Amino acid sequence: MSFSDLAQELTLRKQQSLYRQRSVLASPQQPEVVLDGKPFLAFCSNDYLGLANHPDVVDALQRAANEFGVGGGASHLVNGHSHHHHALEEALAEFTGRPRVLLFSTGYMANLGVVNALLDKRDAVFQDRLNHASLLDAGLLSGARFQRYQHNDVAQLAARLARSDARRKLVVTDGVFSMDGDVAPLPALCHAAQEAQAWVMVDDAHGFGCLGQSGGGVAEHFQLTEEQVPVLVGTLGKGFGTAGAFVAGSEVLIETLIQFARTYIYTTSMPPAVAAATCKSLELLQKESWRREHLNALIERFRAGAQQLGFTLMDSQTPIQPIVVGDADKALKMSEQLKAQGIYISAIRPPTVPAGSARLRVTLSAAHTEAQVDRLLAALESVR
Ligand SMILES: *Cc1c(COP(=O)(O)O)cnc(C)c1O
Repeated sequence: MSFSDLAQELTLRKQQSLYRQRSVLASPQQPEVVLDGKPFLAFCSNDYLGLANHPDVVDALQRAANEFGVGGGASHLVNGHSHHHHALEEALAEFTGRPRVLLFSTGYMANLGVVNALLDKRDAVFQDRLNHASLLDAGLLSGARFQRYQHNDVAQLAARLARSDARRKLVVTDGVFSMDGDVAPLPALCHAAQEAQAWVMVDDAHGFGCLGQSGGGVAEHFQLTEEQVPVLVGTLGKGFGTAGAFVAGSEVLIETLIQFARTYIYTTSMPPAVAAATCKSLELLQKESWRREHLNALIERFRAGAQQLGFTLMDSQTPIQPIVVGDADKALKMSEQLKAQGIYISAIRPPTVPAGSARLRVTLSAAHTEAQVDRLLAALESVR
């Protein structure tokens, strides 16, 4: 058994401009980064509020590490559920207005754990075709009847729901779509689900911190109750600037996950200091609404400037502002040309996005300045 057929696949990927490579980051995550030894102005992180390197968040992590050490040491159900994890769950429950919250070590694991705790082969799962890979994988792994609907197409979803005679029906969607930046039509979607007695699960990885008066994401933006969205997932590695994820919902939902979510049960708890740091970032995220205001001003500035340059933008009011190029090779070349000018934006290519829709996924952060957005626009003009 040799690896020669693997090597062949790798060569093919390179020929298709789909080969992925990592750059080594030698600085904190912030607008001015050092990648592979060179300075860049970056527009591709998910640190939307600029909290990943906030001194108060770093300080909270250091203090908790002094007190609790580094590793969680065991799973939550053995003896790894620390005081800091518990405090964060309580703070997130209050923040989301849901009765309870459960922490997971990553968003990927939260999604796998939740869908698989709720569904099996007697059930059906309905997913937007642009959902995040972790949601799609979760649905496939569950063995439930897997149905995709066209992006944000509530009428098609309703028709599929009406035809289903599954025991349980779960509608799953991103809140803010990770590669397009648009927001799911949740009021209509929740209504369709309610008509069909289906549950709704929203993964709001990119909405928390950015949308809603106090950063409560799409649920706050649309004022959606726990009845409308019984399963609300958030990740902590994006707007919160730390790491991990959470699920918010009813007492029964959370107890079910504690009993049956395998990615909760069979894994080590996140480092307690990360939970402590997240308590601090949650406080900043809620309180410092100037971050959202500044971010929204940057989004407006970028959109106006890019449209003036003749770029076609997507229907997005969020910090995710993709420039769709189409061809993977062309997207890669544009990314290289921007790098030559000191601007770092990675090219997002299939299979992360559908074939023919390779893009520069521009993301903005409250840590960017207006002058930095102008620098980006000037660079884009030169590679147009
Ligand atoms: C990033 C992301 C995840 C995964 O979260 P991690 O904590 O990074 O594993 C899940 N869902 C969506 C929509 C995401 O964008």
